[in-house]
Amino acid sequence: MTERTLSIIKPDATARNLTGKINSFFEEAGLRIVAQKRLRLTLDQAQAFYAVHAERSFYNELCEYMVSGPVVVQVLEGENAIVRNREIMGATNPANADEGTIRKAVGKDVQENSVHGSDSPENAAKEISFFFSEIEIAG
Ligand code: ADP
Ligand code: MG
Repeated sequence: MTERTLSIIKPDATARNLTGKINSFFEEAGLRIVAQKRLRLTLDQAQAFYAVHAERSFYNELCEYMVSGPVVVQVLEGENAIVRNREIMGATNPANADEGTIRKAVGKDVQENSVHGSDSPENAAKEISFFFSEIEIAG
C-alpha cells in the first residue's frame, strides 16, 4: 500500500548540515521526498505540533529545542511509508537504535535525535496537513 508520512529533520541535524545525508537514507530505502521545505517553527507551532506530548515531563524542553534552529519538514511517499520510515529512523534514543538507522548514525541523544516521523496513518494525515496543502505535494 502506497502511503505518505510526515518527516522532520530536526534542529540538531540542520545545525550540522546533515539534510542531504539524512535524505539519502530515505531515498536509498525507496521512499520518495514528494514535498519539502525549510522553516523555523514558532513556539506556538511547536507546542501545537507536539500537543499529544503536553503531559510528558520533557514537553517544554522538547518545544524549546524544536524552535532552537531551522527544521526541514517533508512528506515521504512509498510502500508502507509510515512504518518503513520509523524503521529507517531507528529507536527514539539513539543509544538503542539499530545499526544502519538515521538515529544510530547521526542522533545525539534521546531529545536531539535528528528526525521526527509520524507514528500512525491518522497522525500522518494530521501532521502532513499541519505543514502542507495538497498543491505543495507532488508524488
Ligand atoms: P519518537 O520521535 O521516536 O516518536 P516520542 O514520540 O516518544 O518519540 O517523543 C517525541 C520526541 O520527544 C522524541 O523524538 C524526542 O525528541 C523527545 N523525547 C522523547 N523522549 C524524551 C526524553 N525522555 N527526554 C527528552 N526528550 C525526549
Ligand atoms: Mg512520536
